[in-house]
Amino acid sequence: MPNSRHDHRLCVSQALETAERLCRERGLRFTKLRRQVLQLVWDSHKPVGAYDILDSLQRDGKRAAPPTVYRALEFLIEADLVHRLDTLNAFVGCPDPLSSHRGQFLICRECRSVAELDDAEINSLVQRKAAGLGFTAIRQMLEIQGLCSSCRGSVRA
Ligand SMILES: [Zn+2]
Ligand SMILES: [Zn+2]
Ligand SMILES: [Zn+2]
Repeated sequence: MPNSRHDHRLCVSQALETAERLCRERGLRFTKLRRQVLQLVWDSHKPVGAYDILDSLQRDGKRAAPPTVYRALEFLIEADLVHRLDTLNAFVGCPDPLSSHRGQFLICRECRSVAELDDAEINSLVQRKAAGLGFTAIRQMLEIQGLCSSCRGSVRA
């Protein structure tokens, strides 16, 4: 979980740089809108909803039609640059899109910040248990809700 006092501008510029590199290497087009949408998703470490993204784009005076924005989000998800958190129906930027992974997400109920784990042990355990039931696991998204370390200090249980 990133420290709340960290310089988030670095996270954003790093995420955009990584995205550019990834798209170049895979021959994908990193259009202006895709870049803008990624930047908005990376606005913080909290998940954002599609409507928040549309709102921010419109506030900037850019008339982005909802389907275009959804397509940009789909692209970013396909490219592993963004993850969709089903329980929150929201999106969060992936800090490590270059390594192939299945995420485990620690979602803070208090401040809504999200930290991503990529634990190979959890992954293979799920694969093994599923295979034991004759089930082939294709996609794993584990969403774990709780309190982050900074909120645990301020909230009385
Ligand atoms: Zn940050
Ligand atoms: Zn990820
Ligand atoms: Zn928190």
